[in-house]
Amino acid sequence: MITKKAKFLRVLNNVYFKKNEPVSIVHFLTNRCNARCSFCFINFDDPNTFKNELDLDEIDKLTKNLGSSLLNVNLTGGEPFARKDIEEIAKLYIKNTTVQSIYVTTNASLPDRVESFAKNIINYDKNIELTFQISIDDMPQEHDRVRKISNLFQNCLDTYQRLKKIDPRVNPVVSITVNHENCENIEKIFEYLTNECEVKSIKCTIVRDEGVYKTPDKKKKKIFEAYSWLTNKINELQKEGKLNNYNTNSLQGKLHNQKDKISWELIKKMYLEPKYISPCHAGSLFGIITAKGLVYPCEILEEKIIGDLRKNDMDFMKIWKGSIAKKTKEFILKTNCNCSYECALTYNILGNWRYQPSLLSSIIKY
Ligand code: SF4
Ligand code: SF4
Repeated sequence: MITKKAKFLRVLNNVYFKKNEPVSIVHFLTNRCNARCSFCFINFDDPNTFKNELDLDEIDKLTKNLGSSLLNVNLTGGEPFARKDIEEIAKLYIKNTTVQSIYVTTNASLPDRVESFAKNIINYDKNIELTFQISIDDMPQEHDRVRKISNLFQNCLDTYQRLKKIDPRVNPVVSITVNHENCENIEKIFEYLTNECEVKSIKCTIVRDEGVYKTPDKKKKKIFEAYSWLTNKINELQKEGKLNNYNTNSLQGKLHNQKDKISWELIKKMYLEPKYISPCHAGSLFGIITAKGLVYPCEILEEKIIGDLRKNDMDFMKIWKGSIAKKTKEFILKTNCNCSYECALTYNILGNWRYQPSLLSSIIKY
């Protein structure tokens, strides 16, 4: 997982003790998207939403100032492939930072672009791992209706199958977001994907209130039940070897597998009755960069902006180690901030002593 690029001891020291450099960043490359999902957090009605994206020169500078512990970047949006320079952006992260893996979240409406990106990036760096999270939330017709793009479901499958054939370092994963539109139908969708579409890697997330989206209260219980069913089913099929979300022969794969299980259980405990379970390391090990260059600890605390990269000469670490970041971290710890945001939970689990025995035993017994 950790190669000589990101120095092993330095990363461990940061993750378990110092906690002052990001290990993972979510970078929203754009707010543009050709879909219009009913549960999207983006305000597509505001024309300012699409303006002032960071350009390549700015991203070049930014990536030279991301510390020495960064292991992963999640390139997302909007639809990240709406940016024609996504390949150059990924190369800047590889060239200028210590990332080992790049995670790309896509609606997969542009299979040619996604495939060409994957091929070019793995040829650019022989060690980089690429994961593509392909969003599929419903049966074909419904998926196309909810996302408002014709033939989208077919394009998702096409993208998934093309990526599967490229290289073991390219991992396409279908991701189901359990939401108010699909929660009644989750079993049918899952069976269809696994039996009819031959999808062999499926993950899931639970929809959350964010931006302009608010979960209808009357649907919350149903969403919770569907999420519980789905996570149990994924777990069961992974044990039977019918789903392979990770390479369980690798240390990294085993750890991520166990981390997912812990994360699902935490979310189930917190979703209907939000409560504090363990400290959150957003703002420490994990952070967000918006399309316009604003830095936040996470996607949820929208009022807790830590800094504006453009006003700080694109120097991320200056913002990350500055006084506002320090106050934000104190706020998160003092208020026992809690939520069901999976990205942050990943690094909360990996950076928390409490979960280490479970992670370690998964390595030994799997
Ligand atoms: S595909 Fe993603 S970014 Fe695009 S509208 Fe849907 S949820 Fe929003
Ligand atoms: S608990 Fe959730 S809302 Fe609070 S800082 Fe962490 S990710 Fe953000």
